[in-house]
Amino acid sequence: MGVTQAIDPALAPAYGLAVLDALEAAGHEAWFVGGWVRDALRGAPAHDVDVCTDAPWEESERALVAAGITVHETGTAHGTVTAVVEGKPVEVTTYRVDGAYTDHRRPDSVTFVTDVREDLARRDFTVNAMAWHPRRGLVDPFDGAGDLERRLIRAVGVASERFEEDALRLLRAVRFACRLGFAVEEATQEALVEAAPTLGDVAQERIGAELRGIMASGRAAWAMRAEREVMLAAVPELVAMVGFDQRSPYHAYDVYEHTARVMEGVEYYTGGVTSERLRWAAFLHDIGKPACFTVGENGQGHFYGHPHEGAQMTEKILRRFAIPLELARPVVALVRLHDRPMKSEKRPPLKLLAELDRRSGVRTRGEAIALMHEMFDLRRADALAKAPDYRGWACELDRYERMLRAIDASGVCWRTSDLAISGGDVIAVRGIKPGPEVGKTLEQVLAAVMSGQVENRRDALLAWLAR
Ligand code: ATP
Ligand code: MG
Repeated sequence: MGVTQAIDPALAPAYGLAVLDALEAAGHEAWFVGGWVRDALRGAPAHDVDVCTDAPWEESERALVAAGITVHETGTAHGTVTAVVEGKPVEVTTYRVDGAYTDHRRPDSVTFVTDVREDLARRDFTVNAMAWHPRRGLVDPFDGAGDLERRLIRAVGVASERFEEDALRLLRAVRFACRLGFAVEEATQEALVEAAPTLGDVAQERIGAELRGIMASGRAAWAMRAEREVMLAAVPELVAMVGFDQRSPYHAYDVYEHTARVMEGVEYYTGGVTSERLRWAAFLHDIGKPACFTVGENGQGHFYGHPHEGAQMTEKILRRFAIPLELARPVVALVRLHDRPMKSEKRPPLKLLAELDRRSGVRTRGEAIALMHEMFDLRRADALAKAPDYRGWACELDRYERMLRAIDASGVCWRTSDLAISGGDVIAVRGIKPGPEVGKTLEQVLAAVMSGQVENRRDALLAWLAR
């Protein structure tokens, strides 16, 4: 327990200091708190500023307004107003402790207090439970600075009680460990495992939001291995993958470990700038496998239909987590097509590209090409996570990806909007009414062009339509 001054005051952003000054000019006490302090101590002061104060929210508001700062009453029931300085929002919250938790979710009530240390004690992890002031220095009652040094996520107080109060903290622990690359301290880890089943009480969209944070860290594979119980409780569909013996010469790992390896693989192939949709696709690409398992006569395991089943499961899971549709659709399309062969096609990746384009709902040719490159990274990662004899496929895929580049460069047609005719031409030539039939006909024209039956020229297409 100590007050030190490890943060260079020059790092403090002016808009945050303006809020502290306004509150203190009115005779209140105020501190920077939470994520900004944590990240500033790590030398990463990019985090937005949160402020806590002994002033009740009405008095905070009065002091801020008196200093010419705009204030919004964003959460007055738990003592929060939001100040806006230089266009930047700063949450200002009265010191408080949380009342009893009866639903593992939110406190039944909050009580306002006068000592910043009491406020820090209600916070989740030691690294998040520090306050700092440019002149008074750091308040760090739980040695968060030491845990930053040791690279540990440690619950404030008795871990099992803290997780019992609020089950969302389980996933927050995993998310912070992932984001910071920290380990979870031993007692906190034991409590995490024990409390994992209580995640069932947490709203699905909040689980989804934390999982997005875990994905964004690029360390979801670590979470799958080191925090398996929490990940399984967050996504119960994963449970059947654990220990699932694939009984196949292609595979050296159970489906769960294979998946963790694919998640590492997509990071590797994209140099760590992996898109969120590719991470989700890697995470869920084989989710349909356990349900599709059959054993052939020779005793070998098969998973016929697993991309289809997996795509349906993925769609359901992502909807449950309230993942936006523009992210979910490409993920579902990647899962659906991750195993589709290309070898036998005349123009190998072209049909796959067309189908990926159509299923993912991307808007432009360029976006479809970009998504297709991500599909290749998924497939490479998938190959690399198989038994050693079958990893060479990861390199063979380079050849197909070069064909994709050639397709892109040649300007060849793979979407109906690339055709030299439009729906109006179909209506005129075929004498049909506007409606779904028009789109279907355009798809047929496209298929004829892609298979080389007819050239993508207006006169040729009109003749083909009229035939
Ligand atoms: P991020 O970069 O994810 O925003 P953060 O530290 O700012 O990190 P927030 O979720 O914004 O995290 O919350 C701000 C602070 O509020 C945290 O640092 C922590 O002190 C406290 N806090 C947030 N959620 C909880 C919770 N569920 N239980 C206890 N304390 C919490
Ligand atoms: Mg925050």
